[in-house]
Amino acid sequence: MTADFTYNGGAVSPGETANVRFTVSETYLGDPVRIPVTIVNGETEGPTLCLTAAAHGDELNGIEIVREVAHEWDHTGLRGTLVCLPVLNVPGFIAQQRYLPIYDRDLNRSFPGNPNGTSARRIANRVFQNFIEPCDLGLDFHTSTRGRSNMLHVRADMTQPSVARVANAFASNVIIDSEGPSGSLRREASDAGTPTVTVELGEAHRFQRPLIDAALEGVLSVMAEFGMLDTETVKWPGWRTVIEGSDEKTWLRADAGGLVEMHHDRGSLVEAGETVCTISNPFKTDVTTVEAPFTGVLIGIPQNPLVYPGNPLCHLVSLDEATLRAFRQVTEQAETAF
Ligand SMILES: [Zn+2]
Repeated sequence: MTADFTYNGGAVSPGETANVRFTVSETYLGDPVRIPVTIVNGETEGPTLCLTAAAHGDELNGIEIVREVAHEWDHTGLRGTLVCLPVLNVPGFIAQQRYLPIYDRDLNRSFPGNPNGTSARRIANRVFQNFIEPCDLGLDFHTSTRGRSNMLHVRADMTQPSVARVANAFASNVIIDSEGPSGSLRREASDAGTPTVTVELGEAHRFQRPLIDAALEGVLSVMAEFGMLDTETVKWPGWRTVIEGSDEKTWLRADAGGLVEMHHDRGSLVEAGETVCTISNPFKTDVTTVEAPFTGVLIGIPQNPLVYPGNPLCHLVSLDEATLRAFRQVTEQAETAF
């Protein structure tokens, strides 16, 4: 039996698509702050998938992913419902900044929200109650913070089987297994019964087409895994590592101030002891070499080349021998978008 998707103020029947501007707050002028929501209710019964982006207002790649799924994909034969929220943090989006402009609150630490709490928690509550908690699973898209860039990867609490199922189906090469910070959408949604993972890709303030396309394949693969499509083809990324402990990942930090020259790109393999980047002064003297402490893949690199001592440079995750072999096979065969 198929059912309407209902939210505070409306309902979307099976076979219908609705574009809604949903009020989550008010401005200083008393005008509504509204977020764009598209609900695609398939004709056939199935799971409800929530797609969210721009909880951090300057992280744009996910916006394009959610818009394309909602408005460019053919949803004929869709089993279940897509709840698409391309811009969660509208005030931050308008200001093109990460946090809500009101006292720099982090919307992604404000879930599940509170109808009587701070403005951030009230916004979070409106979103969570109406669109996130009613869903069966969720994908929340992020990018690196400004001045840095991330390889496409998933962050998920792999100790929860339902969350691990979403993470595996998304078919990224790297999964970072962590519970997630308190108040983050993925952790609070997963704890409330909507298994949700974070998808990280690229950098803030950009549309990065190869990464967006790779993530769209991930969405398709998740929909296949959960029976929302005719196809049942769940993608296999060619190689995969699940990073569980802190000894399998590290932040390489600058021990000198200066200008960074990267020797490797995002998604590259670096061998233990290999030079990852160098830091030099304006005279190109006093060059500091930064070496990889173990063999692994660079999942985060700087875009801004300026560092103080102590600044994070690169996020490195380790690969075991079997994964290393698979990595080499895949990268020899094809140019893959990381
Ligand atoms: Zn983010």
